[in-house]
Amino acid sequence: MDNYNISRRCCSIIIPDIIAKEADLIVGKNIITGLLDKPGILDDNEINIDELTPDYSILETIDHKYPLDTGYLTYMTRGCTRTCSFCAVPKLEPIYKDKISINQQLDLIKKKHGDRKDLILMDNNVLGSPLFPKIIEEIVEMGFGVGSKFTPPNKFDILCNYIKNEKDQLNISRYEKRIYEYLNEYIFNRITKKEDKLNYLSLLTLYGINKKENIKKELILESKDELNYYVEKYRLKTPKNRYVDFNQGIDCRYVDEEKMKLLSQIPIRPMRIAFDHISLKEKYENAIRLADKYGG
Ligand code: SF4
Repeated sequence: MDNYNISRRCCSIIIPDIIAKEADLIVGKNIITGLLDKPGILDDNEINIDELTPDYSILETIDHKYPLDTGYLTYMTRGCTRTCSFCAVPKLEPIYKDKISINQQLDLIKKKHGDRKDLILMDNNVLGSPLFPKIIEEIVEMGFGVGSKFTPPNKFDILCNYIKNEKDQLNISRYEKRIYEYLNEYIFNRITKKEDKLNYLSLLTLYGINKKENIKKELILESKDELNYYVEKYRLKTPKNRYVDFNQGIDCRYVDEEKMKLLSQIPIRPMRIAFDHISLKEKYENAIRLADKYGG
């Protein structure tokens, strides 16, 4: 769904009666409220929209650098255990799901788009889950325990797979441009050995990949194996620290010693603790102290 459709869908969930009246529709028939988390809600097929693999290839077709593209973007719970009057979550996701397993989703993302460094969890209230210990256990099992490292995948391989499977000519030309930049700027500038630089340049010239206007999908795929020798040799492979970000914040009212101890098993950065109302000051301060005690 594009942003426009997403915002229209959010409005129709938050104020379904008003939208139905204005558009002469029927809530429950034309307007669907709640999550699209079962097959057959929108169309007659087996697709669970809520569990679709995010399409990271889109990020290679835009000039904007999306800051979260290094992360697995997902949820391990849905909805919220509270019903704050100012918040849309209880309407958007009315049923609290206390644990969603994401093993398979992460495996698929890794296979199609390459491994990601960080885990970005967009849960509304993960600490409300009675299965929170299991959630932490799964996060650790998936390779996001304290001290875990990430080695960047071969981006040239990933871009070549995108271009190989793409049918849309506009996207093909965008991938061609991205591959041109990757090979002629990023990899070229990383080659330190003079002889390798000359051989690499000869290859780019031979296949016509040294000029933006000449670069073509077929030439890229034809030269891939030869160029990949240099890509593999010179691309950045230094392992980096992984981080987990509960980017909607954690609820200070649920924080206690046990939960903070569990949180300390994963490399959280940044630690976001929600402070929604001044009446929560004491609980918020308590959460900050516990976070400090357990290394947050
Ligand atoms: S705790 Fe947060 S997510 Fe839950 S209802 Fe309140 S504001 Fe919304």
